Amino acid sequence: MPVSTPYSRFQTTLHKTLKRLDLDDGENALFSEPQYIHRRDITIKRDDGTEATYHAFRVQYNNARGPYKGGIRFHPAADEDEVKALAALMAIKTAVAGIPFGGAKGGVQVNPKELTKREVQEVSRAYVRAFQENIGEDIDCPAPDVNTNPDIMAWMRDEYELLTRSYSPAMITGKPLSYGGSLGRDTATARGGFFILREMMDREALDPSELRVAIQGFGNAGAHMAHFLHSAGYTVVAVSDSQGGIYSADGIDPVRIDKYKKKTGSVTGEYCEGSVCDIERMRLDNVRKVSNEELLELPCDILIPAALDNVITEKNAGKIHAKYILELANGPTTPEADAILESKGITVIPDVLANSGGVTVSYFEWTQGRSGEQWTAEYVDEELKRVILEAFKAVRREARRGEMSFREAAFAVGVKRILNAMRVRGWVR
Ligand code: NAD
Repeated sequence: MPVSTPYSRFQTTLHKTLKRLDLDDGENALFSEPQYIHRRDITIKRDDGTEATYHAFRVQYNNARGPYKGGIRFHPAADEDEVKALAALMAIKTAVAGIPFGGAKGGVQVNPKELTKREVQEVSRAYVRAFQENIGEDIDCPAPDVNTNPDIMAWMRDEYELLTRSYSPAMITGKPLSYGGSLGRDTATARGGFFILREMMDREALDPSELRVAIQGFGNAGAHMAHFLHSAGYTVVAVSDSQGGIYSADGIDPVRIDKYKKKTGSVTGEYCEGSVCDIERMRLDNVRKVSNEELLELPCDILIPAALDNVITEKNAGKIHAKYILELANGPTTPEADAILESKGITVIPDVLANSGGVTVSYFEWTQGRSGEQWTAEYVDEELKRVILEAFKAVRREARRGEMSFREAAFAVGVKRILNAMRVRGWVR
């Protein structure tokens, strides 16, 4: 059996879509590989005076609909295959969202947790020097991803402006508010997912107060989502982070979890130190500790993977109790798991739709950078709602028309829009 990799998993879904759309060989070929894969080694001086060199990538999958767009991750396991898959997913995502971008992704094979802040800044600036020719507001606009943040975006913009002797606020998004960032970007991914979920539950006449939600990951996407759901009357029954999670059938207050996480560094920290837990306190609060694997299989109505890729697989898909899965993480479900979930009647709202709020508000940041405007938080949220519900409607229409899953429908919408752009540009006959 061929080895499953992030790009092979992307291709499985893509090939299904291409087959359904009945494209010719020339058209299929335009989707098979990224347009460009840029590889560089970047070298920095460590604080101890030695030099360190890291592999770095920028993968540009497709720019038929506009400049390439996608984050940069700093991770020791960020390899070319993973970055390729993420770049391709970005192209589908921007097309589904209907925003004028293509898809790209970047990565540096480095563990930033082993570096000092100055060394991380060195890596960030070296990345921009290495890829200066390939990025820019009209060419390819990066953003944060795993282990990169607004500080890093600021260093990258600063390096780019120094190199090009330009004022270029739109060359990168996810910047700090004080240096060209947009209001509402920090909550955008969760808020977009929340708008879609609320719309779906409304349409199915489901009452939030009767819906239990389990969320894997309590970072930017997962924690904001927990707050939105809790405020809207949903019962958040489980949350987790890399050190494990907690479950309570009575519901968990995300405000309390925020406090625990700030105080102890983990969502379970108030009850457990490592594997030793205060059982009496947990009993009083009706809470129990769960592993990240268990969390996925808990009794709940809605499951939200908001941490890692490849967590819902053929091994556990059959054990999932939720009726809805909202993918805030990128690539959490394998194609084999998708088939099992579909056979069980579980509705999956796929990553390319569910988490597209992040790139949508990045587009608003890019727009503001180019125009010099500064939008209010209320305006950003309203526009996000409009754009993401439009995308949801398009995907739902496609799913109904073709009698297919939301993932297949989202891919179909995305591929058709990219293809249309390639046709009008004369790239295909
Ligand atoms: P983050 O770094 O802020 O949070 C990640 C969370 O996952 C943390 O709580 C971390 O403890 C947890 N985690 C790490 N390893 C884990 C493990 N083994 N098991 C369970 N939890 C674990 O990241 P984020 O920005 O919230 O991104 C989360 C996911 O959402 C990623 O897949 C990312 O690609 C996707 N996403 C994020 C955005 C965004 O705007 N932040 C946009 C689109 C997609």
